[in-house]
Amino acid sequence: MARKAADAAIGTIKSELLSTGRKHGRGVRLVGPKHTTRDCGRCHARTKHALPLSERTYTCTACGTSMPRDRNSAHVMLVRAGFVPVGVEGVGPGRPPDAQAV
Ligand SMILES: [Zn+2]
Repeated sequence: MARKAADAAIGTIKSELLSTGRKHGRGVRLVGPKHTTRDCGRCHARTKHALPLSERTYTCTACGTSMPRDRNSAHVMLVRAGFVPVGVEGVGPGRPPDAQAV
């Protein structure tokens, strides 16, 4: 029952986001959440096991990248959404190509 309510809430949020994006002429991209904590934001390699929640730093065994877990997941989601994040702290990925100026 709780899962059904959570799924309904997520569905409501998704449709509100899409509606608001359309209303303001912004592109909204939905990204699949699967493996976002297991994939490397730099080289896209996937770890063989899930990180425990207590482990807050992601370290890639393939390329050696080490960064906060949430930041790595954000990089993975940006790449999946079609953006290419830059490696400089504080610099954003820019506007999506289908975004329109308001
Ligand atoms: Zn890597």
